[in-house]
Amino acid sequence: MLAVRRALAFGAHPDDVELQAGGTLAAWAERGIHVELACFTAGEKGSADPATDPGELALVRRAEAEAAARALGAAVPVHFLGAVDGELEVTMALRLAVARLVRVVRPDVVLGHDPWRRSLLHPDHRAAGLLTVDGVVAARDPLYAPALAAEGLAAHRPHTVLLFGTDAPDELVEVTATIGAKLASLRAHASQISDHADLERRVRTWNAAIGAEAGLQYAEAFHTLDTRGR
Ligand SMILES: [Zn+2]
Repeated sequence: MLAVRRALAFGAHPDDVELQAGGTLAAWAERGIHVELACFTAGEKGSADPATDPGELALVRRAEAEAAARALGAAVPVHFLGAVDGELEVTMALRLAVARLVRVVRPDVVLGHDPWRRSLLHPDHRAAGLLTVDGVVAARDPLYAPALAAEGLAAHRPHTVLLFGTDAPDELVEVTATIGAKLASLRAHASQISDHADLERRVRTWNAAIGAEAGLQYAEAFHTLDTRGR
């Protein structure tokens, strides 16, 4: 089992982390592990209705994200990094924003999208994954982010990055006891759900399929990066 006392998870949009790693984070929070969540965007374009006002939806989704974090037992507030939904790009400014948060929160484990999954369609998920990994390296190496050092934020190396939404899983976390908390956190994103029963069915089927390979009722899968690598 992974040694973890503090965890920080980055998603492109509110509900990405909950869907991919919510059971894991809830299990950790229940064990007294400190969990924080970050979103690159507020998910303000997450509507099928072209008449939606993105500014108003951003406020709704921020409030939903806070409720979801509470359902997982994670700390609030959720960190929003201010990128535009649908236009997330790999920039030095956002890499440093990730590094700053890693140096402030000082987690042992950072979670993010797997940017190298084959056929990963959404550009925000690809960019979010790259920014998470790049930001961890910038947080780790003391000379890589002089602006942060000037702020008094010393270098910090999480020992592991866990990539979710992966097609190369090498770490399973059992979420049998926390599938309910995961589902509660997803229900908190009410603006994104048209059929609650269908969502619950899909999540249970998916996490049961991941768990079945290891004889577990429900599990979530990750690809691990050891941050001592170069
Ligand atoms: Zn997303």
